[in-house]
Amino acid sequence: MRLASTASTEHLDVLIVGAGLSGIGAAHHLQRKRPGDSWAIVEAREAIGGTWDLFRYPGIRSDSDMHTLGYRFRPWVEQKAIADGDSILRYVRETARQAGIDERIRFDRRVVAAAWSSAEARWTVTVESGAGERETITCDFLWMCSGYYRYDQGYTPSFPGIERFGGEVIHPQHWPEDLDYAGKRVVVIGSGATAVTLVPAMATDAAKVTMLQRSPTYVVSVPGEDAVANWLRRAVGERRAYALVRWKNVALQSFFYRLSRRRPRLMRKVIRRGAVRALPPGYDVDTHFNPRYNPWDQRVCLVPDSDLFKALADGSAEIVTDTIAGFDEGGIELESGRRLEADVVVTATGLNLLFLGGAQLTIDGEEVDLGRRFTYKGMMLSGVPNLVFTIGYTNASWTLKADLVAEYTCRLLNHMQAGGYDVCAPEVSDPALGEEPLLDFTSGYVLRSLAELPKQGSKEPWKLRQNYPLDLCSLRHGPVDDQMRFGRAAEEAINSGESAQGDAALAGSSA
Ligand SMILES: Cc1cc2nc3c(=O)[nH]c(=O)nc-3n(C[C@H](O)[C@H](O)[C@H](O)COP(=O)(O)OP(=O)(O)OC[C@H]3O[C@@H](n4cnc5c(N)ncnc54)[C@H](O)[C@@H]3O)c2cc1C
Repeated sequence: MRLASTASTEHLDVLIVGAGLSGIGAAHHLQRKRPGDSWAIVEAREAIGGTWDLFRYPGIRSDSDMHTLGYRFRPWVEQKAIADGDSILRYVRETARQAGIDERIRFDRRVVAAAWSSAEARWTVTVESGAGERETITCDFLWMCSGYYRYDQGYTPSFPGIERFGGEVIHPQHWPEDLDYAGKRVVVIGSGATAVTLVPAMATDAAKVTMLQRSPTYVVSVPGEDAVANWLRRAVGERRAYALVRWKNVALQSFFYRLSRRRPRLMRKVIRRGAVRALPPGYDVDTHFNPRYNPWDQRVCLVPDSDLFKALADGSAEIVTDTIAGFDEGGIELESGRRLEADVVVTATGLNLLFLGGAQLTIDGEEVDLGRRFTYKGMMLSGVPNLVFTIGYTNASWTLKADLVAEYTCRLLNHMQAGGYDVCAPEVSDPALGEEPLLDFTSGYVLRSLAELPKQGSKEPWKLRQNYPLDLCSLRHGPVDDQMRFGRAAEEAINSGESAQGDAALAGSSA
């Protein structure tokens, strides 16, 4: 890669944005596969961990197993497969510390803009501190590991009269450390992963917890501990056991996902039967656990060891499926005429999606309209050079994809180095490429944001495959040059109409 610039702005080969699960994983791969590269992580917050540091609500845990949510390169060795937030945070932080990655993180640095110059074949990245101070860093390659949602603000629909409510209203994304809900009446609004986690966790101390949902979600109980994993670890050692269990879980996730898509009626029956068995006789499963949509049209919620069903069975929690008519001083009026008295209301109503951490991208001074770009292998954007983003699966554990993106990125960088290229950009060459929404989920948080997200194409490699085995073949073993344009700084300069004189020197300094 190119030598550091002599200008006062610092120059890096690779700049990683975000020190969450993905950013730490990306750095780990880069450090191992490209030991000669100069790189750093910029992180908007003051801490490592992203999601697992931000969310502090009671019971916070993974809803997929840690054998697939953990990194491929670092076995998950704890007993629990569905792990609590603290254990996940510890795992991410220890990964960073053991590899010395923590020393390369610049905290309190939010990327607000990234400007690509074709003449120089590099990004100029503007970062801003919490105090509003700005600085720039230039880099050859920009790797966005900034997650998929806004950190400053969760999603809360406007509920009529909420301002009149005399109790506390809390969004799970901003959980007050000192919230005392012991002996209080709590209403959790929502039906997603956060709501089904919060309800049993709060039910142990609250007087009563009511989960208020407008429509039901599929809820499936899984064992909190993976007996096979815990046995295998003793039998064949941590590393081998991890690899085997990872594949077992990939196969199971994949099997249930495909079966849900192909035989939705069968899966509906199976899931319904699970709920009927876990709940007391006569419980109204069809009102509270039988969604209108098919399994995996939206994410299926996993609960460990039936914790939600147990809280419902012992009466410490209740589910109400109804629509909010309005709030008053003491609680919530429902359209059915029923009223829920509450001291605390938790709005587990979702996230606001945010692509590329909200950074404004420009190419040679022109703003990149993300809504008009295609995703390439679910990790790059058509016509956007030297930029990769890490976004995990929606139907399986995030890290399965994040690890593959990291492997592919390192292969791509090696390919560029071997060919003496400074620039790579996916290019759509097929005029018949159809346009499809990025995600085919019907969840509210997806539908609210589709217009601002890039599209996927109707064909490979523009299609977003939510399929780990297929991605493994293409991202780990497939070519890195399909429908990808490679170039050198000097050629880029000519293309962008600049003088090639100074850039010949740039091209000359390419590794
Ligand atoms: C409550 C909750 C539970 C979840 N549970 C699961 C689960 O069980 N299984 C699963 O597969 N997935 C789960 N997910 C999805 C989850 O987000 C991923 O698993 C994973 O943690 C994402 O890691 P990440 O590093 O890509 O993003 P994040 O964890 O979001 O981290 C992104 C980091 O980038 C930083 N950042 C963002 N924008 C900028 C910017 N412009 N400049 C600088 N820094 C920036 C953020 O501050 C943050 O530290 C869950 C999500 C939530 C919200």
